[in-house]
Order: sequence, then C-alpha cells, then structure tokens
Amino acid sequence: MKNQIPYYQQIGKEVEVFEHAYKNKIPFLLKGPTGTGKSRFIEFMAHQLAKKLITISCHEETSSTDLIGRYIIKGAETIWMDGPLTIAIKNGSIIYLDEIAEARPDVIVAIHSLTDHRRELFIDKLGETVKAHQDFMLVASFNPGYQKGFKELKPSTRQRFIATSFAYPNEKIEAEILVNETGIEASIAKKLVNIATKIRNLTELGLAETVSTRLLVDAAKLIHSGLPKRLAVEVAIVEPLTDDLDVIEALKDLCNLMI
Ligand code: ADP
Repeated sequence: MKNQIPYYQQIGKEVEVFEHAYKNKIPFLLKGPTGTGKSRFIEFMAHQLAKKLITISCHEETSSTDLIGRYIIKGAETIWMDGPLTIAIKNGSIIYLDEIAEARPDVIVAIHSLTDHRRELFIDKLGETVKAHQDFMLVASFNPGYQKGFKELKPSTRQRFIATSFAYPNEKIEAEILVNETGIEASIAKKLVNIATKIRNLTELGLAETVSTRLLVDAAKLIHSGLPKRLAVEVAIVEPLTDDLDVIEALKDLCNLMI
C-alpha cells in the first residue's frame, strides 16, 4: 500500500500551482469545506515530489508544544523530544497542518518565522533557532465556513501563504472520482452525484455543511459492497447531514426518487 500512488483527480490547475509553490518553498493554504479532496491532494503531491508528508490534524487543544517538542521524563533523566514540526524542518519533509484555524493561537505565532524569508523556528524551551532544511515546506488547510463554530484565520496570517480553493468538482469529474475510488458502476455514480447536486442547491435547508465528495464515496462503497442503494444513501448521505427529523424525512423522500 505504502508505495502506491494516491489516486487524485485534478480539478483545476492545483497540481501545477503546487509544483511551483514547492520549487519556491512558498507556504501553501488549501481552503475549502471538509471532504473536498484537500488531504488527498497533498498526499498525492508529496508522492509526486517524493517527499515525506507529516500530517497534523489540528484541534482546539493543539498547541505549539505539540508541534515543536517537549521535555519528557525517561527513567531518572529529562530528555528533549522534537515534535513533528521540528522533525519536518530538520528532515526536509512537507508538513500539513490540517484545519490550522482550529489550533491554539500560539501555533500561529510559532510558525510565523517559518512562513517568511527567515524559514527558521525558534524553540524557546531550548533557546535555540533551527533553520529549515531546503526541502521543507509548510502546507495548511482551512475551512472558510461562515457558520457558527468555525474559526477564522487572521488576514495577517493568511497573507503568509499562497492559497487555492477546493470546492465540489463538476458532475462529470465527481462521478469519475466515485467510479475510480470505489469501482461502482458509472450509472449509479451519476445518480449519486445528481443527489448531491440537488441537496447542495437546497440552501433553504440551512445545513451546516452540505454533501461532500467524501459522503458520496462512502455511499458508493456501501452500494458496491452490496448494501441496498436506498439504505446506503440514507446512512451515508442523509443521516450524517442533519439531526432534524423533518429534514431527514424530506431528504430521504427526495433521494428515494432519485436512486
Ligand atoms: P478533505 O481533506 O478536503 O476533508 P479528503 O481529501 O479527505 O477531504 O477527501 C475525502 C475523500 O473524497 C477522499 O478520501 C477521496 O475518496 C475523495 N475525493 C475527494 N476529492 C477527490 C479528488 N479530487 N480525487 C480523488 N479523490 C477525491
């Protein structure tokens, strides 16, 4: 599995843009809702560039210590352990800070000197500055959902990255992704994509997030492994989207008509 090329269907010019960003080691921000292929894209690019990828899924407790490193007690000794960011900087890996806006503010502060001409990290607990390896690159993702609960990224931070938006692919490409990813029949893939398009356009439902390609892939996998189509759509597409019983019923009726 390890050496297999990650399957990634290009949507626009993101591969070319990333290659140039990597050549110039400009930090890269992937913007877009969950399940739009951001992680898969970066896995693919790391593979193409033959670079090790270190992924950190940021959450509200993620601190600069988690990334940079900490002292740990081993037997009678206290020893320093580099964190994943420090390891990536020293080894020249690509680090991917997934959902960077979720992390604590000290993470953003810590990466500042890495995202400009200095390309260095100050480790305050050691009083040391580490220069980044020439192959090191910083990549982050951010979900610019404007609804409650999503954190913003400050303009001063955003301007340290070049950025690409990830959205849902067009219907033809999305159906191709489903076929390639799951082995499902093209006609069923098309129906699933039609359902997604329909639900994505139902803005009046006020869903926090709409149907992602990831949900479609899950539905396709279940159908491919033999689960009845309507049940697969219900559990993989409708139920994850909402807990509102009326909306669930309405979406189920709609999907049943379409598959
Ligand atoms: P994100 O990181 O944006 O939340 P992922 O990269 O994890 O999303 O994508 C979720 C799933 O959707 C992937 O595991 C893959 O099956 C599928 N997918 C989405 N976009 C693509 C794409 N362009 N090419 C291949 N697979 C894709």
